[in-house]
Amino acid sequence: MAEVVKMTGNLENNSKKDEIVINYKEVKDKIKSAAERSGRDFNEIRILPVSKNQDLDKIKKLKSLGIDSFGESRVQELLDKEEEEPGFVNWHFIGHLQRNKVKYLARLENCNLIHSLDSPRLAREINKRARKNNRIFPVLVQINIAGDDNKYGFPKGNFLDVFPELWELDNLEIRGLMTILPHFDDAEKARPYFRELKELKEKLNSEGYGITELSMGMTNDYEVAVEEGATYVRIGREIFGEREYDQ
Ligand SMILES: *Cc1c(COP(=O)(O)O)cnc(C)c1O
Repeated sequence: MAEVVKMTGNLENNSKKDEIVINYKEVKDKIKSAAERSGRDFNEIRILPVSKNQDLDKIKKLKSLGIDSFGESRVQELLDKEEEEPGFVNWHFIGHLQRNKVKYLARLENCNLIHSLDSPRLAREINKRARKNNRIFPVLVQINIAGDDNKYGFPKGNFLDVFPELWELDNLEIRGLMTILPHFDDAEKARPYFRELKELKEKLNSEGYGITELSMGMTNDYEVAVEEGATYVRIGREIFGEREYDQ
């Protein structure tokens, strides 16, 4: 009897994991279609599975497909997963980062992109910790493009004036911009903001900076984000299923 129960448990476990693979492929297909619709090259768009509140087994299932980078939004959770299986995937940090936690990420070679650089003080701290660890840390700058009071990020209004002081930090490599939008019931409502983020990137490049990445779009709105130029889409629920809890 006990044996039967155990086997059923395993079967359920496996089908859950296979579901993740199916979900991932569906997301990929939708992104391909969105890229085609908008005349973009699918290969310049990367899917970042957001593994927050998900266990290592699920991450491993995707890893077995060759997916090697995952997004986490809490430092402690990232470190716990890293400790369970050191170095087995690359981590992108996507949540609000407290300055006193930067040192933990700066030490981790396989933490290789921070999407959420959201203040000049945080920029200076990452720069300092990167230098201590003899590395140049790749980052994206988070812009509060919708002017949402509940979101972190640089205000868009004076960003062109603020940008040079970030750009001159030697141990940061600024690769692009990122935004988190408020939830809209209709993804079309997100479109003007995605477009605005892309225009901000183009404006910076027209002033001589060279940034390429746009991290925008989540489960609710990633197809629109791809149509508007996203190079990273950060997707949690549509790949992993609903989270058991959320912060
Ligand atoms: C949780 C999270 C995501 C993924 O959200 P889903 O709606 O589950 O796709 C993307 N970006 C950030 C910054 C997040 O915190």
